[in-house]
Amino acid sequence: MALRIILWFRQDLRLADNAALVESLAITPEVVPVYILPQDQHDAWGRGAASRWWLHHALVDLQTSLRAKGSDLLILTGDPAVLLPCLARGAGASAVAWNRCYEPAARALETQVKARLEAEGVEGRSYSSSLLFEPWTVANQSGKPYQVFSAFWRACLPLLGSVTPLAEPSTMAPVPPVALPESVRPQTVEALKLLPAIPWDAGFYESWTPTMAGAQALLSEFVAGPLGYYDPQRDIPSVEGTSRLSPYLHFGQTGPRQILAAVQQAPQLQESPAFRASADVFIKELGWREFAHHLLYHFPATVETPLKETFLNFPWAEDPEGLAAWQRGQTGYPIVDAGMRQLWATGWMHNRVRMIVGSFLVKDLLIPWQAGARWFWDTLVDADLANNTLGWQWVGGCGADAAPYFRVFNPILQGQKFDSKGLYVRQWVPELAGLPDAYIHRPWEAPPLLLADAGVTLGQTYPHPRVDHAQAKKVALEAFASIRK
Ligand code: FAD
Repeated sequence: MALRIILWFRQDLRLADNAALVESLAITPEVVPVYILPQDQHDAWGRGAASRWWLHHALVDLQTSLRAKGSDLLILTGDPAVLLPCLARGAGASAVAWNRCYEPAARALETQVKARLEAEGVEGRSYSSSLLFEPWTVANQSGKPYQVFSAFWRACLPLLGSVTPLAEPSTMAPVPPVALPESVRPQTVEALKLLPAIPWDAGFYESWTPTMAGAQALLSEFVAGPLGYYDPQRDIPSVEGTSRLSPYLHFGQTGPRQILAAVQQAPQLQESPAFRASADVFIKELGWREFAHHLLYHFPATVETPLKETFLNFPWAEDPEGLAAWQRGQTGYPIVDAGMRQLWATGWMHNRVRMIVGSFLVKDLLIPWQAGARWFWDTLVDADLANNTLGWQWVGGCGADAAPYFRVFNPILQGQKFDSKGLYVRQWVPELAGLPDAYIHRPWEAPPLLLADAGVTLGQTYPHPRVDHAQAKKVALEAFASIRK
């Protein structure tokens, strides 16, 4: 019998620069691509609703693309540790190949899969395709994981070199026959029911093309345009100044090697020192993604608990109404509300605004960062356990290299600095659109006649500020002082 390999797709839903795919095809043309959706959605960090929407489209795209190459994608639901050995048996495969993931549950699953395969005499082969530097390859001089980004990135920089992503296979052989037991039925993507039953996703379709081609188009457009002025435009939420590649990176529809190569090959890099400086800032952001995975791998408990243990005793508030107002974009602070509404409508929020809304939840409302992380998990199309955990622990001041807790973002000043003309607020909080720039970030200070002219009635058309920021800051600092004693 010909040599056969099962190719287990996970968070690497692409054909280009996919090490497990390329290496398997180098061994044999008889490759059986499979995606397995875990049936148990009760896992604490099972995919959120926005993420499921993206996954649906990514799977349709992967299956269509594999079919166009002559192959196909087998879709199953259940436990990969049970199904993969069963599949290997049914296909007469000698190995199962996959690209490694770094989330605690995904790592535990890999270990289990490998053990079960070995028990059946099937080889488990894993590869690296999601990161530039796998977490165990970068360590400080004592051999310990880094906890400060600048030191981590200094250690990575000499390793960056020039990156050559793996080529996409031009054709693939048809999937060989696979004999499956009665109880294991291949599914269609539609049968997975990943799309919402109530259609709240219209804005998602307007905002995204969740395919591999969509990722490539976005990357090309970004390198040709916004990359050159990424620094400082990346901080202006009304401008499309960042790549918006985060969901594609999370689902592996593009990989960091492809992005890095596209940047390194940009012709302007040789011509313009300003372009090079801007590109370096962008590559450093990819570095934050690497750092997030480094931390998650070495400190897996940080998904739920603060890295800095003193924060275990932080006197958080119990405030379900405050949380609901934050989630709905009804806090009375325009830049916060704009961000939360952008998130709800499009499944994405600008990074600067993620920091502002996060700070507001944790420091103005004193609501635990974990509640924010949960909401982001359910509503972001780029929900990613490594990046989300790093982001929320940074905001909460309790993680590695985090913003110090005593540095409290002022939502009015942040708005005035990064949305000086109020363009972002006017887009997402249209009930304030008629206010002049001077009051767009502090409507409660506008003279009554001006409010009336703009059609704003505080408490009716737009909420009063939920807290007084100066007072809230004082309370937050007192709470912080209490855990430092
Ligand atoms: P770009 O500016 O174009 O950056 C390119 C890529 O670099 C991004 O796609 C992302 O993969 C990576 N990157 C950029 N900034 C960061 C960062 N601060 N930390 C880690 N990686 C980064 N990012 C997610 O992908 N998923 C999340 O669940 C997530 N949750 C966050 C929660 C909070 C509270 C905060 C403050 C940040 C969070 N981020 C998260 C990081 C960041 O906001 C997004 O990666 C970024 O806004 C995505 O937009 P972009 O692709 O246009 O980024």
